[in-house]
Formats: sequence, C-alpha cells, structure tokens
Amino acid sequence: MQQLKKNEIFHGTERVRRECAIELRSKVEQLVAEKKPIALFLDIDGTLLDVALTPSAVHVPPNLAELLGALSEHLAGALAIITGRPIAEADHLLKPLKFAAAGVHGAEMRVSPAGSVERLTPALEPGLHDDLKSIAADLPGIVMEDKGAGIAMHYRVVPELRDSLLATLEALVPKYPSHFTLCEGRKVVEILPVGFTKGQALRNFAALPTFANRIPVMIGDDIADMEAFRAAESLGGCGMKVAGENFTKAEASFSGPADVLNWLRRLPVDQ
Ligand SMILES: [Mg+2]
Repeated sequence: MQQLKKNEIFHGTERVRRECAIELRSKVEQLVAEKKPIALFLDIDGTLLDVALTPSAVHVPPNLAELLGALSEHLAGALAIITGRPIAEADHLLKPLKFAAAGVHGAEMRVSPAGSVERLTPALEPGLHDDLKSIAADLPGIVMEDKGAGIAMHYRVVPELRDSLLATLEALVPKYPSHFTLCEGRKVVEILPVGFTKGQALRNFAALPTFANRIPVMIGDDIADMEAFRAAESLGGCGMKVAGENFTKAEASFSGPADVLNWLRRLPVDQ
C-alpha cells in the first residue's frame, strides 16, 4: 500500500515535470510568435551536438553553422554560444561562421562575432598544471585537456575511475587556496579559476546592448548549465533542459540535440 502511494507520488511528480518542460517550450514559441524580443544562449556538446567518446570525435550536422547564422541574424545578433570548450574549438566546429561566445565556462569571452577572444583570467599556476599531469599519469585512461583558462580531466573511457579522480582532485584544492574550483560535467571534472561560471557568462552578455532588454533563453544539457538557467530566470527568461546523461526525458524540454535543432529550425524568429 505504502509502495503504491510512493509510486503514485513519483509518477505524479514526473508528470508535473513533463508538463512544465512542455509548457516551457510552448511558452518560448509563443513569445517568439508574439514578436517578443528574445536572446538565445546555447551550449554545444549534448545540446547542439551528440556527445562523443572524446571531445574531438563529435559529429557536426551539415548546415548547423548556417542555421545558427540565420537565427543570429533574425535576432539582431542576440545569439551566443556558452560552452565549456575553448572558443577556438567552438569556432572550429561551427566554421565558417563565428558567433558571440563564452568559452571555458565564461573564462573566455568574445562579445560579438567579429570581436576578439578575451581571456578574463590568468593561466592556472604551473605547479597546479604539473600536479594534474601526474594525477592523469597515475590514473591510466584519464585524458587531461589543457584549455588555457582551465583544465578538463575526462574519464569517459574509464568511468570506474570517477570516484578516485574526484577524491584526488578534491584533496588538491586546499594546496591552492582560492585559486581554482571543481566543476563536474558529463564524464569530466573541470578545474576552473574561481568565479567563472556559465551563469556569470550569461549575465555578462545580458549587460551588453545587443542582448539587453531581451528575454534570455538558455538551452543546455549539463549540470554546469544550471547556473546559466538560474541566471536566465533571474533576468526574466528561462532555461530549457536537453535530455541525456544529466536530465531525464521527463524533466527536459528536448529529447536530445536532434530535437533542439529541429525546434530551432522551426522557430519563427524575425526580430
Ligand atoms: Mg553540454
């Protein structure tokens, strides 16, 4: 009896989540149909592209850059990429076009497509770099990715090492007080300078004339995107989740990257 009750509550909660996620999607469609000015903020991996075994192995659908370029034009430039990747990598994936972008969780920014990439933080200490290198050497299969403004430790090929990796990195934090923070993502732990998040990146964009006075809509699939969802909500907009490793289909507004791209294609933006 008690079990049945629990299930009823569970399914009820799932249903409410599903309704909220669908409602959110319709709400944004309605805003666009009513010609309300929106600003679009898009994560890349797991949002526009399917996640691959390694970051360099992703498949980029044909016409993705073209689609984003058309959207950016319709939104008078109010479209920005907010990613954990360095901006140079985002450019490579979306070539030949460039977009306003925040890279390495906001540690790098380019405020307009034609602007230059600005690193908002100094490089991480060489000692920290060396420590991470030896951690990666001690845990075979862990792939260390130096992003300049931050370092990612990928455990996608050795998921069983996640706990050891996290514990080792957590033990390293006190050695460099107030210098870096850990941010867990999809099969990756990011070592980031303190104070940089996707939420802060979204706020930085929202303060710029191109994005100001528009309703921010952030689409993302990862825990790190939650900060950006909250930032968008606090500015009168919303965050839309993409289902995958972090969000269930019930709580997400999109079932996966293909669903996001179809939705973006059909969005009647002309603002
Ligand atoms: Mg992502």
